[in-house]
Parts: sequence; C-alpha cells; structure tokens
Amino acid sequence: MVVGSRVLRAAVFAGLTMTMTRTPSPRPHAGVMDITPYKGGEGDAPGIENVIKMSSNESALGPSPKAIDAFKAAATALHRYPDGEARVLREAIGQRHGLAPAQIICGAGSDELISLLITAYAGPGEEVLYSQHGFLMYRISAMAAGALPVAAPESDLRADVDQLLAHVTSRTRIVFIANPNNPTGSYMTTADLQRLRDGLPDHVILAIDAAYAEFVGAPDYTAGRALVDAHDNVVMLRTFSKIYGLSALRVGWCYAPPAIADALNRVRGPFNVNAAAQVAAVAAIEDADFEAQARAHNDQWLPWLTGELAGLGLPPAPSVGNFVIADFGMAARAQAAFAFLKTRGIFVREVGGYGLPQFLRITVGRADDNAAVIAALKDFVAASPA
Ligand SMILES: *Cc1c(COP(=O)(O)O)cnc(C)c1O
Repeated sequence: MVVGSRVLRAAVFAGLTMTMTRTPSPRPHAGVMDITPYKGGEGDAPGIENVIKMSSNESALGPSPKAIDAFKAAATALHRYPDGEARVLREAIGQRHGLAPAQIICGAGSDELISLLITAYAGPGEEVLYSQHGFLMYRISAMAAGALPVAAPESDLRADVDQLLAHVTSRTRIVFIANPNNPTGSYMTTADLQRLRDGLPDHVILAIDAAYAEFVGAPDYTAGRALVDAHDNVVMLRTFSKIYGLSALRVGWCYAPPAIADALNRVRGPFNVNAAAQVAAVAAIEDADFEAQARAHNDQWLPWLTGELAGLGLPPAPSVGNFVIADFGMAARAQAAFAFLKTRGIFVREVGGYGLPQFLRITVGRADDNAAVIAALKDFVAASPA
C-alpha cells in the first residue's frame, strides 16, 4: 500500500537518524577541525606552457648537479630501508658547520621537525608562541597536537621581543621564531635573539627556524648555533628545501642540546628521511661552489626585484631571504594582480593567510623570470593604478 510504505519509510528514516545521533562517528581531538589546511604555492596552469613559479621560495638555480646524480644513483637500491639514523648525512652537516653529529636530528623537511618538537614538548592545555606574521606551520602543528597557538603582535612587520616576552605564560612550552621570517623577509638581530632567550623561563624552548640562513649576509644576523651551544633550551632548524633546491625530497635538520636531541629521536619515525633524500642532501651540502652561486644569484636579483617593485609603487618590505612581499595597498588590488599574473603564466603567493592580504609574496627567480614578473606588473599597474 502506498500510504503504508510511506509511513514505513518515514519510520525507517527516523530510526536511522536516531541511530546516527546515538553512535557518533569518529571525531578528531580538540583543535584539529579548526585547522585551516596549509596550501602550497600554485604552479599549475592547464594550457599554459613555460609556467613561471615564484610561489614557494624554491631555489632559482635548482639543486646541485651532484645532488641530482646522487639521487639517480639511489634508484638501484630502492628495496633497502634507509639508514634510520641518517649517519652519513649528519656527519656531512656536522663537517660543513663544525657541529657534533650526535646533536643533529634529520627530518622529512623542517616541517616534520617543527611537528616533532611540539609532539615532544607541548600538548593539550599548553601554549606554542610565535609572532603575528610568523610561518604558518607553527600554528598548524600546535593545533594538530591539541596545544594552544598564541601569536604575539609585530611592529613594522618585524617580530617584537617585548611583545613575545609579554605573551609568555606558565603554560608556554615553545617559542618559534622564523629567522629570517617567511613571508615578511625580516630578521631578528643576534642581540634581539639573545634578549628573547634571556627573557624566557628556562623550561621554555626557543626554536630558531633558520630556513633561509644561507642567503643572509647581514653582519648582525646569526642562524643561532652559538645560542644552542650556550643554552639548554635553544634549538636551530635548517632545511635543504631552500638554497639547496631539494624541496621535493623533504630534508631538514635540527641542531639541539643533547637532552632535546634525545627526546626528538624518541618521537620521530624510525626511517623518517628517505634514502634518496639522504644521499642527495650529502652531495648538496658538500658542493660549496654551487651553494655560493645560488647565494650570488640572490645577492644580485633580490635588490633588483626590490628596486623595480618600489619603482612601480609596490614597495616591498626589506627582505634578507630569497623572496619579497610587494605592497599593493589594498587586498582587492593584490588579488587582482595575482589573477593578472596568472593569466601570464606567472605564479606568486597570496599571503592573506598570514594576515597580509594587501601583499603578494614573490620568490627571486632566474633572470628571465624576474624580468617577466616585473614586465607583467608594469602592465598591471598601468591598467590598474592605485
Ligand atoms: C620553507 C620553510 C620551512 C619548511 O621547509 P621544509 O624543510 O621544506 O619543510 C620552514 N620554515 C620556514 C620559515 C620556511 O619558509
């Protein structure tokens, strides 16, 4: 009967709804669903050949040819597990920087090391502190661990030591400083880093994320190694993704006091850095000439891009990295420029997620890439004056 089956169906439906409310489906722990997922830089334009990707702070020169050779050679032993202790890589890093390999922990990118530090030292009810426009992974990894992310205001797009110290509470476990910072390009001086460290309670870790250290020549800049040596609560994070051009392989490292190194080695996966990444990274860090070329390229083109952008009325904040943020004055204009560049096959990075919607971040590219982005922006500014 039509009516009867309708009633039956309604009853079944009601029963189903009740069942659903009675047995809840799996739910992630507090904080997880509040995470805005990290979005990598775009670089795909179907139909456009010769895309120019200036959206992820990748090296303009790519990796050392020796690193590529090492990577290819690794293909013959893909059935073997990697060395879980990354011994040869840690020794190569130690050799290059004069550090004890036992105090070096390698990770699948420094992103993994950020997450491991938080896993080991911060949990629910505890706080992870960083500065207002600081690298997004500190916030994301803190929330993933159920810890509370806390942002301290900046002044003039620079981390502010007094604000950071004012936001330390009895629940603070780690303070992350990207130095230089992505996306602002600004850096904290050696004196300010020391003052920040000295103002922290001894149980709080100062994590200095020096992903762009190799590009920086400022005399009052330090990547943080001496601070690690002098204190039990300072770590330095480094990566092979930026100047060494190995972003695809995911290799980073942390230099830490012995007790923190011990903790990180307990929480990391047993084979967290793959074999091809290990051998390519060794070749990369041993190729000092190639690294010097990459630095020289940046020394030439960073000031050029900065000057050209300023000349177009899009003044970038002073940067010591391999990228700048150009100021379009208004979020809508930055969005329009982003879309316009895309039509030319040029990808830059929107930084609204960092609270900087009126800016676009542009990575230093090869000579012709840099010329192309400036030529395109010239056309944009002519068509859409401020
Ligand atoms: C790119 C970047 C990283 C991440 O590097 P991976 O080693 O590729 O994970 C870390 N910190 C900052 C500030 C970065 O810009």
